[in-house]
Formats: sequence, C-alpha cells, structure tokens
Amino acid sequence: MTFTTTRRAVLGGAALSVLSPALLRAQARQLNLYSSRHYDTDEALYTDFTKTTGITVNRVEAQPDPLIERMRSEGANSPADVLITVDAGRIERAREAGLLQPFASEALASRIPAAYRDPEGHWFGFSTRARVFLVSRERVADGAIRTYEDLADPKWKGKVLIRSSTNVYNQSLTGSILAAHGAEKTEAWARGVVANFARPPRGGDTDQIKAVAAGEGDIGIANTYYFGALARSTKPEDKAIVEKVRIVFPNQGDRGTHVNISAAGIARHAKNIEAARAFLEYLSTPGAQRYFAHGNSEYPAVAGVEWPAVLTSWGQFKADALNAGVFARNNAEALKIMDRAGWK
Ligand code: FE
Repeated sequence: MTFTTTRRAVLGGAALSVLSPALLRAQARQLNLYSSRHYDTDEALYTDFTKTTGITVNRVEAQPDPLIERMRSEGANSPADVLITVDAGRIERAREAGLLQPFASEALASRIPAAYRDPEGHWFGFSTRARVFLVSRERVADGAIRTYEDLADPKWKGKVLIRSSTNVYNQSLTGSILAAHGAEKTEAWARGVVANFARPPRGGDTDQIKAVAAGEGDIGIANTYYFGALARSTKPEDKAIVEKVRIVFPNQGDRGTHVNISAAGIARHAKNIEAARAFLEYLSTPGAQRYFAHGNSEYPAVAGVEWPAVLTSWGQFKADALNAGVFARNNAEALKIMDRAGWK
C-alpha cells in the first residue's frame, strides 16, 4: 500500500516560500492525533500507518468530552491534526463546535457508505457497531422480541437491562427512535422502557450482558463489540456468560438495527494537513479496516473487507440507513426525553 502524499520530495535548492504540493508533502512527516478510542488494539493500527507512510503519530488520549473541550480552549493554537472518537454523537458535537474542517476525498466517498459520513466531509466513520439485544437463551423464546419498540411492551416488565441515559450510545439509540417516530412517541417509548427496567441503570454495556447471564433480567442492550470480546475470551467465566445469551439484531423487518460509528475528522486548525488527509484515507484501506474488525470486533465500514469469525458467526443483518449525523444531532433532545421519562 502506498500513499502519494508521503512520497519523499527532493528539496534541493527549492525556495521554501513556494508551498508546492510536493513541499507540503515533504513537511508532512508527523501527525498529532487526538483520540478518545479506548481500545488497546489500536496500537497496531498506528504502528502500521507509520510503517506504511513514514509519518510519526503523536497521540493525545483522553475521554471524549475533555478532549473536545481541550481542542476548543486551544483554539487556533491547537496542535491537533485529527480527532478520532467513538459514537457519532461526539464527533458531531466537535463539528458543531467548529473544531473540524471538511475534507473532500474521492477515496473516502467511494469507500465509506453515505450513512457513515458527514455529507459535508467533516467526519468519516471507519468502523461500525450495532446496538443489539443480548437475551437469555433459556427465558426468551426465538422471535419473542424483535424490535426496539418491543422494549416498551409491558410483557417485559422487570426484564430490561440497559445502562444510564447519560451514556452517548443510548442517546444515539434514542436519537434514532426520535428520527423514526418523532418526540411524542419517543417519550412514550422511553417511559415504557423505564417501566420495564430490571434495575436502575448502572455499569457499562458488558455489565448488562453479565446481568442477563446472572438472571437479573432477560434482555440486555449492548454494542456488538462488547459481546464480541466475551465471545472471543478464553476465560471460563466469560465462556459461561456467552453460553447463556443469544444475540438479536432488532428491527430486521423494518428500518434495520441501529448502527453507530467510530469516526475521525480533520481539525479546523490542523498544521500537518497532508498527514491528516493521508491518515484519514489510510483508515479506509483494507489493512486498517482489518485492524478495526479483528482487533476490536467492530464491523469494517468498507464493504468487501473480510469480517472476523465472531462477527460472521452472528450472520448478516439489515442496518438502519439513517445518516449517523441525524441521530447524532438528536442526542440533546433524546437526553431530555429520557430525563423526562425517568431514565436515570
Ligand atoms: Fe465502547
């Protein structure tokens, strides 16, 4: 894999004041990456990028909201070239704060499906994750629950396990319900879901899956890669959990399962702009796509990239084609609705 953007230019006696594309390329030897991805396996991805392009990656890692706040306060002096984060809600917040600049890339437009990128090019989703049900094999019959809407059905009273409404994954999920049904029906839905809680929300996605296995409830909601991590684990206690639960992809009969993204965009004040472009395009290459998929059990955003065995074992599914920016912009209203519904 080669990148024309990183080909070494011969500087010789060329006047440095003339910023020819070749000179810009020659300068683009490092990249300052602000990342809120919390997966160790990304290390291999950055190493491979450096090996492929000769561009050094300087990483600043932090929780997403502090990271975005940091970029905001650094303003024009921000060293950030690229922001990479999980959940469309967060990258869209960065765009709304004016922290990203558009990038018109034919390569990205052709490789990344339209639902997973900003129509104006401020961010691109490089991997996807579905927000699915992990249900008790023993207590939930095949086909007994099929849709997110079903989560509000009184027949599941005391059976639903889901984390807090402060979690962005849930704000995005509810944002997608909002897009499908409008505010009034979404609030009624949220009230129904809260009425069905097995316990007050606590813990992360994995905790909901564990609680299903432990019999605290029957239906857990989690992102696919959390179940992927359990399914790939060699620990006996994880194997025991996986044996007790079954994955259900919601809404296969209508709009499809809610799918979120891990996304990246070029910082508004990026200094290493060519390196930033090279990095974004690199993320869409088959090699990088495989790192995401095989490293963290995420779905590659690019079609035709081989899935890891664990994802293949769950089968193909229909994904909601709603643009990620739409449910992302719904996050704030979704949180208000969940608040009103008593979703802690
Ligand atoms: Fe996560």
